[in-house]
Amino acid sequence: MIYLDYAATTPLDPQVRAAMLPWLETDAGFGNPASDHALGRRARKAVEAARAQVAALLGASAEEIIWTSGATESNNLAIKGALEFRGRANAHVISSRIEHKSVLDTLRYLETQGLRVTYLTPAASGVIEPEQVRAALRPDTALVSLMWVNNETGAINPVLELASELRARGVLVHIDAVQAAGKIAVDLAQLPADLLSVSAHKLYGPKGIGALFVRKRPRARLSPQIHGGGHEQGMRSGTLATHQIVGFGAACALAAAQLGEEGDRIRALRERLQRQLQSALPEVLLNAPAAADARAPGILNLSFTGVEGESLRAMLPELMVSSGSACSSATREPSYVLRALGRSDELAGASLRLSLGRYTTAGQVDAAATQIIAAVQFLRELSPQGSG
Ligand code: PLP
Repeated sequence: MIYLDYAATTPLDPQVRAAMLPWLETDAGFGNPASDHALGRRARKAVEAARAQVAALLGASAEEIIWTSGATESNNLAIKGALEFRGRANAHVISSRIEHKSVLDTLRYLETQGLRVTYLTPAASGVIEPEQVRAALRPDTALVSLMWVNNETGAINPVLELASELRARGVLVHIDAVQAAGKIAVDLAQLPADLLSVSAHKLYGPKGIGALFVRKRPRARLSPQIHGGGHEQGMRSGTLATHQIVGFGAACALAAAQLGEEGDRIRALRERLQRQLQSALPEVLLNAPAAADARAPGILNLSFTGVEGESLRAMLPELMVSSGSACSSATREPSYVLRALGRSDELAGASLRLSLGRYTTAGQVDAAATQIIAAVQFLRELSPQGSG
C-alpha cells in the first residue's frame, strides 16, 4: 500500500504521539485546564506551552491563538463570528469558488440570512489574482475570505500582496491556511491577516483539534459561535482537550524545525513523480501553475485525457490517492475545484490528486508512477477514443 493522500490527512508523527501520551494517563494528565488546583494548573501549563508552539509556527503571539475542534470550526467561527460582531448580516463578502466546503457552505448559509457574496473564479492555473479581488471590492465589502493553498491543486494564492491593502480599506481578511501551515513559510508578522485557520491533522498532529488566529493589534473581534463557560477569551467555550492540544503544539514545533528542508525533499519527490508520468504518457495535464514553487511542495494534481476517472482509480487499489478532496469525494461528482479552473467534467473526473508527505520515499514514488502509467496505458488502449 502506498499512501499518497497527505492533503486529506497525515499520520501522527511518533514524536507527537509520545508528547501526547502522558496527558492520557490517569495520575498525571487528566486535570481540567480551567481548574484552580495542582492538576488543573499542570494541564493549563501544557496547554499554554502548546499555544506558544502553534503561535511560533505562524509568527503570531500566543494570546492570538484560539483552540477549536479543527479548521471546519475555525472557518465557521472566523466568518460567522466576524460578521455577527460587526452586525453586518447583509454585508458583502469576497471569496472564491475553490474554497473548502467549510467556507463555501458557511457563506451559502449566511446568504440565506441576507449576506451578499462574490465568488471569484480562478485563472486556469488555479490562482486567484489580486486584481480580481480589487475589482470585486465594493463600499459595503466587510470581509475577504481566501485560502492560501488550495487543497486539491496545491496552487498558492498571492495573499501576501493583498492583505495590507484590504486592511487599509477597513476590510477584514480571513485566510484558510490549512494546507499552508507547516508546508510553506507562514509569518503573520509579514502577512497582516486578521483571522487565519489551521488544523493539526494536516501537519502530523491529531485529528479533532485546530486553531483560529485572531489578531490582537488591531484587534479582530468575533462573536462566539459556541456559548458556555467563556473559555478562550470568551470566543470559544468548552473544556480544552489537553492531549490534543499538546499534540498540535508538538506537531507545530516539529514542522517549524524542518520546514525548509522537508519542503525541498518533498518538492523534489513531487517533481520526480510528475516527470515520470509526463515523460511516459502523452496528454497528462497539470491542474496547477507550472512553476514548481507556485505550488505547495506536496500536492500534484493531474488529469489524464482519454481515461475514465473511476476506472483509473479502480485499477490502482494499491495507491491511497483521491480525486478531488476527501471531503467532497463522497458526492462522486467531478471536482468543483477543477471545474472552476475550466476543466471539462470529463477531465475533472479523470484526475488524480497525489499528495506526498513526511514519510513518502523515492521508492514509493517510482512504484506509484509505474502503476499509474500501466493503468492509463491499459485504459487508453481499451477506450475507443483513447488518446495514447
Ligand atoms: N480547509 C482546507 C483547505 C482543508 O483542506 C481542510 C481539510 O479538510 C479544511 C479546511 C477542514 O479542516 P478540518 O478537517 O480540520 O475540519
